Amino acid sequence: MPIVIVVARSATPAVDLPNPVSILGQATPISVHASDPRGIRNVFAIVEQNGASYPVWQMAQPSKAKEATWNFTAGVKTTPQLKDGKAKLIIKATSDDLLHRSARIERDVTVVTQPPTVSVDSDQHYLYVGMADLASFNVSGVYTAAGVRVGDQSYRAWPMPGGKPGLFSLFAFAWNMPPNTIPMVFASNGAGNDVTSPITVIFPKKEQPHYTVHDLQVSDAFMQKVVGELDPNGSGDMVARFVRVNTEMRKANNKTLSDLRFKTADHFLFSQTFARQSHSQAEANFADLRNYIYQGKKIDQQVHLGYDLAVTQHVGVEASNDGRIVWAAPLGIYGNCVVVDHGYGLQTIYGHMSHIDVHEGDTVKRGQIMGQSGMTGMAGGDHIHFAMQLDGVQIDPKEWWDPHWIQDHITKRIDAGMAPVSEAAYGSPKKQGHPARSRRHQ
Ligand SMILES: [Zn+2]
Repeated sequence: MPIVIVVARSATPAVDLPNPVSILGQATPISVHASDPRGIRNVFAIVEQNGASYPVWQMAQPSKAKEATWNFTAGVKTTPQLKDGKAKLIIKATSDDLLHRSARIERDVTVVTQPPTVSVDSDQHYLYVGMADLASFNVSGVYTAAGVRVGDQSYRAWPMPGGKPGLFSLFAFAWNMPPNTIPMVFASNGAGNDVTSPITVIFPKKEQPHYTVHDLQVSDAFMQKVVGELDPNGSGDMVARFVRVNTEMRKANNKTLSDLRFKTADHFLFSQTFARQSHSQAEANFADLRNYIYQGKKIDQQVHLGYDLAVTQHVGVEASNDGRIVWAAPLGIYGNCVVVDHGYGLQTIYGHMSHIDVHEGDTVKRGQIMGQSGMTGMAGGDHIHFAMQLDGVQIDPKEWWDPHWIQDHITKRIDAGMAPVSEAAYGSPKKQGHPARSRRHQ
């Protein structure tokens, strides 16, 4: 079949970059992959800038291998003639046969010799464990990522609303963050330059929340309800199954919730204070530590990252604020669960519902009924598990129920177009009842 021969003869080597390259810094790592059934005679890389061409790398010797990957670095360190600005990275591969067929790829890159610089607002940021704050900052120079880093967590930077200059990040000081952690504004340019600048923080020692420890008695009925609902096909020891649900399923469910941070609007979807479920009594508070006691023995320990709000059975579950539904489905220990996005990575979570009346993608208004409360998932009584997360980290919602806090910490700093705050319009945040020894769970 002559056609087959023609096709085979006209084949050229293939060359590609397994990792995208957009920035050339001091010594930027680059991987090149090339393949040819006849082997590779030569692969080389050049950088073109302002009409000049600089060889930056060449393979050491011809290869009989059908494919190979080479790693090298390119940048100002080895090519000092490069200047900050646009350039082209060109890779050429030649096959190891008599015709020396070749392939060529070309990428637009930016040469960056200077790290970005960051300047942080001069505010004193009062931080409370488990809660949020907002920092504004400027980044100059070329950067590919910026935000606030707190320990091992990072919070995205967003452009100031209304086209104003600068950036801001909403960030949390997580409930389990070591207290001496200093939040840092960071900017990196993808050329190995990562600059940070600390935020000025004050930890009012006396006003830090004190998380409490509760013993939660696990009855046989509750254990059977949870295991039957969440591990219906499992077998073996009931206690082991219960603990596995409470530990592993909880962890997986929290990961799913955290990943919803990528489904967020790039502006606030609300203009008022967050509302707490009407007439509700808090039966468990944020970050309470729970010992699970079964037949007098402690079988597990978990941290409760929300409020258990009880009203009556099958009460209408109210959206805490305007937003868009990003989850409306069963979610393990949270039972039938709704997550509302409010923009900039801020989201509210409603668990244990008996019925969901909204769908992913729907927009909801503050106070809108999204379904009925219930006891699906790890719940021993009818209640709403209400929680909030910021860029995937669960935080104490209570600040967001407080119009003064929002005014002082958010609105004043970014002028986010929220309605002027007045006590009369929103009412003061309701007093939390002392959490009763809970018969309701997650
Ligand atoms: Zn709960």
